[in-house]
Amino acid sequence: MKQQGILKVQSPATGEFFAEMFETTIEETSFIYEKSRKAFPTWSTMTIDERLVYFHNLRRIMVEQMDDLAKKISLDTGKVKLEALVADIMPVLDFLKSLDKTAKKTLVRQKVSTPLLLMGKKSYIEYMPRGTVLVISPWNYPFQLAMIPILSALVGGNCVISKPSEVTPFVGKVMEDLFKLAEFPEGVVSFAHGGKELGATLTEHGPDYIFFTGSVRTGKIIGQVAAKKLIPTTLELGGKDPMIVLSDAHLKRAAKAAVWGAFTNSGQVCMSVERVYVDRSVYNEFLRLVKVEVSQMKQGQSNSDDVGSMTFPAQIDIVRNQIEDALSQGATLETGIEPRHWKEGEMHVPMMVLSNVYKGMKVLNEETFGPIMPIVPFDTVEEVISLANDSEYGLNASVWSKNIQLAQTVASQIVSGAVVINDVIVTAANHHLPFGGAKQSGVGRYHGEAGLKIFCHEKAVMVDSGWKSSEIQWYPYHGKYELFLSLFKSYFKDRVNWFTFLQSFQKLIKLSKNK
Ligand code: NAD
Repeated sequence: MKQQGILKVQSPATGEFFAEMFETTIEETSFIYEKSRKAFPTWSTMTIDERLVYFHNLRRIMVEQMDDLAKKISLDTGKVKLEALVADIMPVLDFLKSLDKTAKKTLVRQKVSTPLLLMGKKSYIEYMPRGTVLVISPWNYPFQLAMIPILSALVGGNCVISKPSEVTPFVGKVMEDLFKLAEFPEGVVSFAHGGKELGATLTEHGPDYIFFTGSVRTGKIIGQVAAKKLIPTTLELGGKDPMIVLSDAHLKRAAKAAVWGAFTNSGQVCMSVERVYVDRSVYNEFLRLVKVEVSQMKQGQSNSDDVGSMTFPAQIDIVRNQIEDALSQGATLETGIEPRHWKEGEMHVPMMVLSNVYKGMKVLNEETFGPIMPIVPFDTVEEVISLANDSEYGLNASVWSKNIQLAQTVASQIVSGAVVINDVIVTAANHHLPFGGAKQSGVGRYHGEAGLKIFCHEKAVMVDSGWKSSEIQWYPYHGKYELFLSLFKSYFKDRVNWFTFLQSFQKLIKLSKNK
């Protein structure tokens, strides 16, 4: 709720107004950029060790405030506290810890070899921060999906402007307070609280890099603005992840994973299980196990509940629309309640497993981002690979089989940014693996080494001692063509003719010196 720049923050689960905060005005954006530009010269010239001191402060504070942080994230998003702890707070702490080992190793000057034809020179790569990085983030994991790119950009010496989602504004305020408590210097990390218009204005200001996580629709808008100004970007977008259960899979484990993968965070996960394909020979048993699992789950906000509320009311309409579309075309609701019987205003949407679903139904084609699990039987491995790839998205996937070699062969043929074998989603939790999408699921990668390097100019440097008066390829060219011909022919042969090579080389040096 808005009132003259004051945002009243409401819990999606209970409707209670629990906090008030300031919204950033469009006019303030110029000042935010000025502050950021001013902070850059000092922050960018610190050593990585000096920067890591602030990161240590941040980790210490997060550990001290862990329970309070989980409570605040849960209040603002409607997810249960355990999910806030495990999927929002832990990944950030783990990333902060991993930076102690990886930041220097990845971002210090890297020596590389120099080809023989450039003998006498040395080469290396230097990582130079870009300047001000704009991080625009979504509401489903509002803490980790903002914090990890922010920290990745900061450690390399960039300043950051963060625009958290307007759907979960309080988490934005929580992050801002954490950076203040950790005493990051003024202007190094700035927060702009507000919605689309604010995000668009911040983009138009021309940051030096844009890291965007959100929908394909917004990703395309940002990509266009960035292209006009040639601003490099990473776009982390949506998904419609397939889960492939082969006939020899551990069915109980697969059923439990399908339920967790589809319903954690009420299904509002870019990498959630959104399509389940099961070998026809084990289809009925798999469906039975899934239904047993769902029947044991509890929805609510307490520490003993499994599934919290939806975060974004508008998302419920998408879920309703997809379910109604599927039911009207003959799908069967195996668990949950038909939308016409849902309680008006209830944010705890029932967990819905669907069978008899076919291509052409929205539920198999469009991103749901809600608690729906469609299950489809298949007959051959070739068929299921083709079904899995039949999507405009390609973020994550999972393959289930006790035959690891077969699972790996299937995994290699899935067009997506990541595949998990006999588990779901979990690649995202390993900071050493790259994260990102194929097809409409995104452009670029983060996490891993690339996740730090993208925020830096990769600068190639070559050093000559500077004592020689000339180089063989410099002017004048007179008399050199035949010698170069003989030099290259002798060098690039299958077996190098060292005698001719050295002879030509010496003559070239002599010619260069004489002139
Ligand atoms: P969204 O695109 O509506 O909004 C994301 C952010 O962009 C918000 O902060 C919003 O204020 C801002 N924004 C909107 N319009 C803008 C504009 N024109 N210019 C600049 N900023 C603008 O997405 P959402 O609803 O917050 O998030 C859900 C989507 O995000 C889903 O599609 C989901 O799959 C995707 N997602 C992807 C990943 C990933 O890592 N690939 C992770 C989480 C969510």
